[in-house]
Amino acid sequence: MLAKKQFKAESKRLLDLMINSVYTHQEIFLRELISNASDAIDKIYYIALTDDAVSFNKDDYYIKITVDKENRILTLSDTGIGMTKEELEDNLGVIARSGSLAFKKENESKDGFDIIGQFGVGFYSSFMVAETVTVISKAFGSSDAYKWESKGTDGYTVVPTEKEQTGTDVILKIKENTEEENYDEFLDEYRLRSVIKKYSDFIRYPIKMDVTRRKLKEGSGNEYEDYVEEQIVNSMVPIWKKNKNELTGEDYENFYTEKRYGFDKPVRYIHISAEGAVSYKAILFIPEKIPFDFYTREYEKGLELYANGVLIMNKCAELLPDYFSFVKGMVDSEDLSLNISREMLQHDRQLKLIAKSVRSKIKSELEDLLKNDREKYEEFFKAFGRQLKYGVYSDFGSNKDVLLDLLLFYSSTEKKPATLSEYVGRMAEGQKFIYYAAGESIERIEKLPQAEFVADKGYEILYFTDDVDEFAIKMIGAYKDLEFKSISSGDLGIEAEESKSPDADDNDMFAEMKRILADRVAAVRASKRLKSHPVCLSNEGELTIEMEKILNAMPNNEKIKAQKVLEINVNHDVFKSLQDAFTNDKEKFKLFTDLLYNQALLIEGLPIEDPVEFTNNIWKVLY
Ligand code: ADP
Repeated sequence: MLAKKQFKAESKRLLDLMINSVYTHQEIFLRELISNASDAIDKIYYIALTDDAVSFNKDDYYIKITVDKENRILTLSDTGIGMTKEELEDNLGVIARSGSLAFKKENESKDGFDIIGQFGVGFYSSFMVAETVTVISKAFGSSDAYKWESKGTDGYTVVPTEKEQTGTDVILKIKENTEEENYDEFLDEYRLRSVIKKYSDFIRYPIKMDVTRRKLKEGSGNEYEDYVEEQIVNSMVPIWKKNKNELTGEDYENFYTEKRYGFDKPVRYIHISAEGAVSYKAILFIPEKIPFDFYTREYEKGLELYANGVLIMNKCAELLPDYFSFVKGMVDSEDLSLNISREMLQHDRQLKLIAKSVRSKIKSELEDLLKNDREKYEEFFKAFGRQLKYGVYSDFGSNKDVLLDLLLFYSSTEKKPATLSEYVGRMAEGQKFIYYAAGESIERIEKLPQAEFVADKGYEILYFTDDVDEFAIKMIGAYKDLEFKSISSGDLGIEAEESKSPDADDNDMFAEMKRILADRVAAVRASKRLKSHPVCLSNEGELTIEMEKILNAMPNNEKIKAQKVLEINVNHDVFKSLQDAFTNDKEKFKLFTDLLYNQALLIEGLPIEDPVEFTNNIWKVLY
């Protein structure tokens, strides 16, 4: 007997899920197989169109579905590019989208079959309905054919076989019905036709099916006989070539899933039919959920690119700026050449025009979402806002005009996300700056002593909780001519009315504190911002304390230090003790200085240099 090869561990787990699946939409296996077949034909179709050595006949490209009810066999044949022996093993022996299972582990839910709904699982889904799956394939350019076969988790075999035409046959032995499950439906012509119509209508190649029909037997009076007629089930008009008003939201959603752009439900779709300087059609989607690899190096942005209906590239990166890299979808243009290469693409004038137009459509769609469906926009922003903020920061802020009005920051007064324009619109009289506070979380920022003074003035503060926020804002400097100001910056731009100025003795004292702390601080000063708290740190210069933290958390970075100023609240009781120690007990004064400095570090969320000494100092003041 032929030794069985084993599936990779991850694939095995997935297969287990599939075989025992009680997933309600088992019918999607057909969509997945048709989609694979169509991709395979795309590949050979492209070769045929661009390589003169390959003869070309449009009728050669099709998908055929045949049913053998008696033997419970459903066969899906395509005239695509086929698979070599190695490809059969590599592609079908492991799960292609291996990331999806890793993602599943992290998001393990009680319902073990969630993964099917969330990701679709391509070829493997056939095990939901079939007890044996056989794939016979002959690769383009090869004279050998191979047969891959598996009953599921116990492994698979690959043996040489005969096949005349290049392409692939996927042969499913449909499971027997059980008490709960009826699998007969996948052998029923009408049922199959309706599933194909529902999910795969716009596939560009004909999906052919033999349909049994009945006619009067010739010369027999009223006797009938069955005959088989081949029909094309799908309309073959790609969805992007259809009229918008012929289509429903469900059509777009099906297209999104069928194309495997994502396995969530898109927040928005954009159907573009542009004429003019450049003509193109496009369907774009704004996804709802972050793809599991989105914020990793592996993530590849880009749109599918078609030249007059022929797929020429899976991910054309030139069509999307980085800040919109989350957008999925496709572009089809008659103005593009089939033979365009990657290198040429970057200089292609038509493509540049399309990219520009695509960008502005996405922008206006997002603006529209922000304006008309705030809740959805906030959800979207939670997922992809960071990417927009990176966009503001990158390229030296050159894209800020596209993006600034799409940003949201949590507002101290509204207790919810606000746009910059909303902030400016409700600024208090006499307020000269847009105030912000940077920190790890809303909760932490709320407690920052530095914020008290600005907040007491009745000024709204925007909370910067993403690493990139402060860097992005530094890059743009101002919004509508109003500068941004950190609540920790040296000069808040607010006159402190009631706080008394320190006298000459106090200045001596601050100088002594500075001497004790040496270059750990740039200066020690009387605070103009503190109310109920005795100390805090502020900063001088461009680099803020939050930025110091972020930069130092990055690997391989030289340690960077913000210019810190230790601010003392001269209205606080602690200040009196400090003055007292300064005149009467220099040892104690040194201790106090050290304690106050370290407290200020702790409040900022900065590490204290010597925790043991710090705690020693605390118990020293306790007795
Ligand atoms: P996905 O389609 O998402 O990559 P699948 O598990 O459905 O995942 O398929 C894995 C791979 O097997 C495909 O990427 C493709 O390379 C290959 N494949 C599947 N079906 C066919 C087919 N009918 N013809 C040629 N190659 C195929």
